[in-house]
Amino acid sequence: MKDATLALHFGYEKDKQKTMQVPIYMTTAYEYEDTDHAARLFDLQEEGNIYTRIGNPTTRVFEKRISALERGIDALATASGMAAIFYSIANLVQSGDNVIISDKLYGGSITLNTQTLKQFGISAKYFNVHTPEKLDELIDEKTKLILIESVANPALTVPDFGKITEIAKKHGVIVICDNTIATPYGIKPVELGVDIVVHSASKYIVGNGSAIAGCIIEAPFAKDKLKTDRYSQFNEPDESYHGLVYNEKFDNPFISRARLALLRDYGAVISPFNSWLLLQGLEHLHLRIKEHSKNALKIAEFLSSHPKINKVNYPLLKSDPNYPYAEKYLKYAGGIVSFEVSDYETAKNIVKKLKIFSLVTNIGDSKSLATHPASTTHQQLSHEELEAAGVPEGLIRLSIGLEDVEDLINDLKEAIEKTN
Ligand SMILES: *Cc1c(COP(=O)(O)O)cnc(C)c1O
Repeated sequence: MKDATLALHFGYEKDKQKTMQVPIYMTTAYEYEDTDHAARLFDLQEEGNIYTRIGNPTTRVFEKRISALERGIDALATASGMAAIFYSIANLVQSGDNVIISDKLYGGSITLNTQTLKQFGISAKYFNVHTPEKLDELIDEKTKLILIESVANPALTVPDFGKITEIAKKHGVIVICDNTIATPYGIKPVELGVDIVVHSASKYIVGNGSAIAGCIIEAPFAKDKLKTDRYSQFNEPDESYHGLVYNEKFDNPFISRARLALLRDYGAVISPFNSWLLLQGLEHLHLRIKEHSKNALKIAEFLSSHPKINKVNYPLLKSDPNYPYAEKYLKYAGGIVSFEVSDYETAKNIVKKLKIFSLVTNIGDSKSLATHPASTTHQQLSHEELEAAGVPEGLIRLSIGLEDVEDLINDLKEAIEKTN
């Protein structure tokens, strides 16, 4: 089946009630047939519902659908995008290890990797996704992952996927790609050799800014790397499950361990109601992403032609330095456009004058949003870190919605021209 069909039908088997909508199973727990049945479930001898922190039937349908769309072997939904990113990393590292991250990432991912993970004895090294040859020097025996974003938020950088996954494969290091902005319709990282895909489902997947959620998808070939000595936690007995060895027991060892060990112990589980909202979003994601991307390109072209704008970033704009990579790898680049004006104050004032765009630190909503990262999402970063992350102080980030694009262009035009 093709994607649009999978997004509407995959993974749902109707019960006696024959409900067209996937039911929302708002339940904490599930009844066992008897104590033997319970024991078999707890010992993972048999699959079934135990407790919603580990799994839920509504959530399971979403997991199956997003996994199918990303060409994964399995998926795990989480309470937020950050939980998905943290669990993906925590699944691979142990104290003393290091991670290699793109120098153009979502602000939350930068602070997680460079600050918060320090307390677990994990260090982070940066690399530039357009000069991945450097990875050969950066990777050592303690390196457990390379983290990239298919379209970076907010820098909008598109990585050189081919070279990155080739070098990672040579060293046997897992590549994690955050695919929040491009969505599986813009790019399928698994088809390019990425082992683990993560999403903030709070953005395009839910599609209208109604829920915080995340997910992790495992590629069928991730196991090839997990089988090596680099990832001993997948090859050695897990005492918390009577000596279970994830690689021996499962074809999907990454998701199994993330669910059975990490979700069990860290507990950032998604609400079944939010899973249902994600299912609603997936039904028309293919239509929305096409429209968001079309509007975004028109707006990027308008901004490029405006004399007051110093620079416009949109990967599928021919003048963008990411264009060669975007053209090669992306079908859609999503609805995020950013542009630079002279300074911090001008940027703040333009955002203030916008009428249709709302000042919101979110992206992927059906309504258009604008933000000034230097005073909001990236406030914790120093001037140098802002420059390094591709977020200069005069940068405005737009999340182009589904309104009529002419209205959006007029709104921007007025705000820019009324600001000195
Ligand atoms: C928003 C976002 C996140 C964090 O997701 P939450 O759902 O807000 O936790 C991670 N990565 C990217 C690219 C994002 O845009």
